[in-house]
Amino acid sequence: MGKVNIGLRGWRFDEDVVFDDEGQLRPLGTMDRDARDRILRLTERVGDPCDACWLIHGEENAEECNPAEVIYGEPRGEVVLCSDHERDFVYWFRNEADEDLVGHPELGDAFHEWFMDGGRAPDAFPPLDHVDESPDEVPDAGDLHDELPGLEQELREMDDEDLEALDVNLDDLDV
Ligand SMILES: [Zn+2]
Repeated sequence: MGKVNIGLRGWRFDEDVVFDDEGQLRPLGTMDRDARDRILRLTERVGDPCDACWLIHGEENAEECNPAEVIYGEPRGEVVLCSDHERDFVYWFRNEADEDLVGHPELGDAFHEWFMDGGRAPDAFPPLDHVDESPDEVPDAGDLHDELPGLEQELREMDDEDLEALDVNLDDLDV
């Protein structure tokens, strides 16, 4: 069973769990909660700027920010990063982060605080390699909706109550 990225590197999905035999996204309601939460979160975060760039440049200089390429953490406590700042995150995660944060939604805030306080990977920290990643497998971040045939339609057809239950913020979605 293959593992796939959707939109951003980082979160991996079992292909069989999220796509049917025709390559269509399965109905969200049939997925386990974790996969569903992550897909919904991805629809909100794909196309966002890197969190760390954003902390540096802010809204006034949003054009200076690199687009996010990778996502770490738990839905709603996730961190999205460009490849430059991914190195800072990985350094922090391996060396500085409290173990209790693993799998915890506080992880994102904790990283943001560290970064805001000037936390960075030291020069000696080796660059990350992505030899085990196959870039061809990662759909273009700009095309998430095209990559997920069925998702938009499904979101449109769900009624407000269902969406509320799923905690979707439609304002963040390009539907
Ligand atoms: Zn960045």
